[in-house]
Amino acid sequence: MHKVTVIGLGAMGAAIAAVLVEQNYQVTVWNRTPSRADSLIRRGAVLASSAASAVAASPITIICLADYGVSTSILNQESVKSALAGRVLIQLSTGSPQQARDLEAWTTRLGAAYLDGAIVASPPQMGSAGATIFVSGSMSTWRQSESLLQKLAGNVSYHGEQVSAAASTDLAFLAYLFGSYLGFFHAARILETDELSVEAFGAMIAQVSPVIGEVMKYQGTVIQNNAYSQPLSSLQMSMTSIELLTLQARESGINNEFPRFAENLFHKALHAGYGSEEVAALVKVLRQE
Ligand code: NDP
Repeated sequence: MHKVTVIGLGAMGAAIAAVLVEQNYQVTVWNRTPSRADSLIRRGAVLASSAASAVAASPITIICLADYGVSTSILNQESVKSALAGRVLIQLSTGSPQQARDLEAWTTRLGAAYLDGAIVASPPQMGSAGATIFVSGSMSTWRQSESLLQKLAGNVSYHGEQVSAAASTDLAFLAYLFGSYLGFFHAARILETDELSVEAFGAMIAQVSPVIGEVMKYQGTVIQNNAYSQPLSSLQMSMTSIELLTLQARESGINNEFPRFAENLFHKALHAGYGSEEVAALVKVLRQE
């Protein structure tokens, strides 16, 4: 049986440990509140008496805690640091690119190997084909941990030795997701003012998602190559649509913060003379800030 340690048994850490127990790993766990290990112990996991003895029990430790600050407060104990030497630490708590760089440097100084990961899934999805984990860090450590991580998610993508890559990709994804959320919630207000179904609109968005994905792929190519001069959708034309959102908000008296935010950025781009360029030229305004 392969041994693995999981530190942190919140909703996500407990789901990770449960998948690994299910996959016949010999799982040692530790959590600040030990009672959260109860159901895992019944299924075969072993509860360590301290974080240090949990790390010492396995060649690989997965840590999944509230954030990097909490992780550091646990890892920074002298007993844990000694236990980590010569072992692998995989950080699956969500963090920033700089936090990943700092933790890799700290781990390397201890003589341990490090991988940084970011989970794009909910706890019940762990272990399923639909779950995604972005991973970055040393190639040899990735090779050593690949089969373990693949037990946790059907889609585990390795983003190379630049350790910040997983966190940056995760935050880029979150920026896209929350931008879409804001648009969707404003859309809900537009529909409500005309007594239309928000639920039906959500279903329609699900249907057209592959097409929207293709549009994003195209805009990504435009930005990567700085190729804005042959627009399929010009900035000027897109501004006309944004202005309609502002007009609708005024006419119906709904909250106008979302269209105002968008209009402000598009105004700056038009002011800078990018009106006849591809809408992705808006990124040039963001680069200036
Ligand atoms: P929870 O809030 O359920 O669990 C938090 C964990 O952190 C618990 O183990 C908790 O211990 C521990 N903790 C918090 N504060 C302290 C402290 N001061 N000292 C020691 N331990 C502490 O969070 P999740 O499990 O949902 O999330 C864990 C990580 O996974 C986060 O980084 C999150 O962003 C990421 N993630 C979560 C997803 C989700 O849908 N849940 C999705 C993708 C990523 P205790 O039990 O003792 O309170």
